[in-house]
Amino acid sequence: MEVMYKSTRSDSTPITASQAILKGLADDGGLFVPTSVPHLDKSLRDLAGMNYRAVAYEVMKLMLSDFTEEELKNCISAAYADNFDTPEIVPMRKADGAWYLELFHGPTIAFKDMALQILPHLMTTAARKNKEDKTIVILTATSGDTGKAALAGFAGVEGTRIIVFYPKDGVSSIQERQMLTQEGENTCVIGIRGNFHDAQSGVKKIFTDAAVKELLAENGYQFSSANSINVGRLVPQIVYYVYAYTRLLAAGEIQDGGEVNFVVPTGNFGNILAAWYAKQMGLPVHKLICASNSNKVLYDFFQTGEYDRNREFILTSSPSMDILISSNLERLIWHISGCDSAADAEYMRKLTQDGVYDITPEMRQQLADFAGGFATEEDTAAAIRDLYEKEGYVIDTHTAVAASVYGRYKAESGDLTPAVVASTASPFKFEGSVMQALGKDTDLPDLELADALAAVAGVKVPYAVESLKTAQIRHNIVCGKEEMLAEVEKFLGIEK
Ligand SMILES: *Cc1c(COP(=O)(O)O)cnc(C)c1O
Repeated sequence: MEVMYKSTRSDSTPITASQAILKGLADDGGLFVPTSVPHLDKSLRDLAGMNYRAVAYEVMKLMLSDFTEEELKNCISAAYADNFDTPEIVPMRKADGAWYLELFHGPTIAFKDMALQILPHLMTTAARKNKEDKTIVILTATSGDTGKAALAGFAGVEGTRIIVFYPKDGVSSIQERQMLTQEGENTCVIGIRGNFHDAQSGVKKIFTDAAVKELLAENGYQFSSANSINVGRLVPQIVYYVYAYTRLLAAGEIQDGGEVNFVVPTGNFGNILAAWYAKQMGLPVHKLICASNSNKVLYDFFQTGEYDRNREFILTSSPSMDILISSNLERLIWHISGCDSAADAEYMRKLTQDGVYDITPEMRQQLADFAGGFATEEDTAAAIRDLYEKEGYVIDTHTAVAASVYGRYKAESGDLTPAVVASTASPFKFEGSVMQALGKDTDLPDLELADALAAVAGVKVPYAVESLKTAQIRHNIVCGKEEMLAEVEKFLGIEK
């Protein structure tokens, strides 16, 4: 059965998965949602006998149904191979009564790799399928992490170019080094004299400029977007929830059909929404536990049914979750409104205009699958310390938010359903905060701190960090925020 995608905000004609991946966002500003969610067509037992790539195919073929078997399998083999540092792709580790699903074994040691390693292949395949012969140009502004993950995904992928702008003095030295050493002739990294907001609005301006679009088209280029609302990022994230379940089944940790809970450290709501889709596809899931840091908009939403972004923005030790507008929540809102695009559009209008909206009691009833929790900075540090003291296992700050929320959830609810915690980053990615939580000396240069953490955790420094010691700097462009377009034109060779 063909799964089609439509906008959350209007009832325009549904399009195929490959078209949705190419478009990114719908013309009306809405997000693409599947008009029906397919059910897994292999038994959980069968899936338990498959490796990561095979499970990925079984899940993705259902959601991206206009891709042929050969197309999808090519994308999957290119994405999940020895660019991951373990053949399991996402290993699981049991610690203190929960299973940690390690989503950080890809090239940038954080979970965004799970989707960004495959997105470029899905995009170029989608372009070919739709007879788009233009080179895809990805333009991104980054505050550090997403930019590197996108660069690593698109590097060397034929038919694509990627240009990343970052605030020259607004990212950590390790993050800057990671980006500036990026290989691949199709990659371009540019520091701007300005902050993240300047980089972001500069990119938006170039992206929406009709004259630029035309100039690009004349030269055989077209912009596309790699951001987290793309269907091509959402669907690959469903895979590891199904995979995690089937590993527990294979290991005899759960009965066939027995339920599990997923605990997800949440920012933009993409990762946990993927877990919700996994449940809709028939995976036996009891609760989806949504863990927030001190920016607890989502916790409040699950408590009250009111989404209110009008509040102080707090900088925390889990920066990838410092978000007040969780874009992917819009998809859930659409589903629980009974697929009512007019209602969804109205909520989103209120969010833009007033920063707040309130869902109906009927919609709230459909949120029973979710439990919300949040962790303060002290809770987060305590969770890192606790798990280390009990198990010798070191987790990163984002994962620690989830660990803390799960601990409290279990104590308060008495729910003993086996739980899988999405472990979204390697502790080496946030080594300063992690070492501080462990009460260690943090007054060391980045790369030495990594060695110290490795000694504490009893693990090797990941290649992504180790290789920075010797990697060549390959990018050196710095520009003012008014010069961003000129730099794009220069890199693409289309100066007028
Ligand atoms: C992006 C990110 C998150 C949040 O995931 P969402 O899909 O935005 O909810 C959590 N942890 C880490 C390390 C991340 O990079």
